[in-house]
Amino acid sequence: MTESAPHQSEPFQSEANQSEASASALTQPAPDQPRTELIDRFGRRITYVRMSVTDRCDLRCVYCMAEDMTFLPRARVLTLEEIARLGRCFSELGVHKIRITGGEPLVRRNVVWLFEQLGALPGIRDLTLTTNGTQLPRFAGALRDAGVTRINISLDSLRPERFKAITRLGELDKTLTGIEAARATGFRRIKLNSVVLKNRNHDEVCDLVQFALERGIDISFIEEMPLGIIGDHDRAEAYYSSDDIRADLSQRFDLIPSAETTGGPSRYWNVAGTDTRVGFISPHSHNFCGDCNRVRVTAEGRLLLCLGQEHSTDLRRALRANPTDDDRVKDVLHQSMAIKPRGHDFDLREQPVIFRHMNATGG
Ligand code: SAM
Ligand code: SF4
Repeated sequence: MTESAPHQSEPFQSEANQSEASASALTQPAPDQPRTELIDRFGRRITYVRMSVTDRCDLRCVYCMAEDMTFLPRARVLTLEEIARLGRCFSELGVHKIRITGGEPLVRRNVVWLFEQLGALPGIRDLTLTTNGTQLPRFAGALRDAGVTRINISLDSLRPERFKAITRLGELDKTLTGIEAARATGFRRIKLNSVVLKNRNHDEVCDLVQFALERGIDISFIEEMPLGIIGDHDRAEAYYSSDDIRADLSQRFDLIPSAETTGGPSRYWNVAGTDTRVGFISPHSHNFCGDCNRVRVTAEGRLLLCLGQEHSTDLRRALRANPTDDDRVKDVLHQSMAIKPRGHDFDLREQPVIFRHMNATGG
């Protein structure tokens, strides 16, 4: 592996909070803790991990980032080797799905090497990627060869000026070319992700579904989540619920409820007579916490037990303190299950209580 500068070990820095304090007390393993599956105190089995490989991105979507973001210094970001090691530990504890996300994962140098390592893990049945699509023409083939099974590509508008306004730096054509590259490569499933904002793109939901239908791919609509201060719009005013979207779509499409799941938070409908599924990720209107099966790892190695809470464990410290002992790292993963909260309490009317942005969270 050829990632250049080795990443220094340094103390973990993040918002101090009670949950983190309690998590750091967990770094000592309970002597008789079995190293089996990851099950939290509400009986939810963790089988799905989303790992952010960078907080950096070539776009600045208005719901995700502020215009002038400060990104993490490289030394605070996990190395690709550390991320691969974590993937191995998780897979040995019963995780069978890993999603690589960011920031924009494909802007990280040598990231294909990481996909190759994760794709070779015997326990991983589903290796997936979330991307804005701009780099797919370069990487789609290598990703498929590394074992990536499914790709989610973000697309919020089909109108070039709107696309630019929402992504601040993006060009619609680049993302469309990326979508075509993924289609030509032949992944098992491709899904579009659209964050819907009232009066920004809510009137395009039918066009976006039509676009997906014509290409035989899926699409999920996402309610905006209050992560980080973005300084662009009032998130409460921009709220457009999944129920509103579904009502709009029903005017044009015959949607049939589906019990299908991809192991994530989307609830799916099938468009009658087609292979296309329309998903809804509805943290506000249809809270998805009850059957949560996932955790996240941020780019700096913080294990987030919930997208909408700060409960976390410092995995970077655990990895660097135990460079050759995976069992110690697995002990920390196990013990972190004790602080996975029941669910999030997103409230769009409040100032964000979660100060990290989605790019730092790993959406
Ligand atoms: N850069 C990649 C992309 O855009 O697909 C991967 C990272 S991005 C953070 C992952 C997903 O989170 C994208 O589909 C994006 O639209 C979504 N997202 C970002 N900020 C969000 C927010 N505040 N609320 C809901 N979804 C958000
Ligand atoms: Fe970048 Fe994805 Fe965030 Fe947009 S949503 S700014 S593409 S990380």
